[in-house]
Amino acid sequence: MTIFEKIILKEIPSHIVYEDDLVIAFLDISQATKGHTLVVPKTAYKDIFEIPDNILSHLIVVAKKLAKAIDKAFAPKGINLLNNNKEAAGQTVFHFHIHIIPRYSSNDVSFAFTNNMNNLSSNDYKERASAICAAL
Ligand code: AMP
Repeated sequence: MTIFEKIILKEIPSHIVYEDDLVIAFLDISQATKGHTLVVPKTAYKDIFEIPDNILSHLIVVAKKLAKAIDKAFAPKGINLLNNNKEAAGQTVFHFHIHIIPRYSSNDVSFAFTNNMNNLSSNDYKERASAICAAL
């Protein structure tokens, strides 16, 4: 059982900000920024590859509702939604979740994306796009 299931079952304390039959949302204990919130399905699906479409659809609607509430409550300058899948992508709790991270400045959280465009040919882009299209 992951720590999120214990939160869902109210076996351990958390600061719940939203709950319905399918979804719960509570403050991320790390509070990367003020109001950092996690939106979590009540059933334990490991990641994006396991979560059913109908649950994910509902989850993103709840995330939007919470993003608006966080915006109203704290007036951040921006908001990131983030979802990590598998260890290599930074997932540490293996129960699907979406982070809502309000941003108060451009450097209060670091997402370090490398821009590789100068190292790629148009053929590289074509090959990558074709591989994805072929897999759909
Ligand atoms: P991820 O790295 O995307 O799997 O995110 C897991 C998140 O869960 C981290 O940001 C943790 O701070 C958060 N977390 C872990 N334990 C708790 C807890 N007991 N209550 C609230 N958030 C937690």
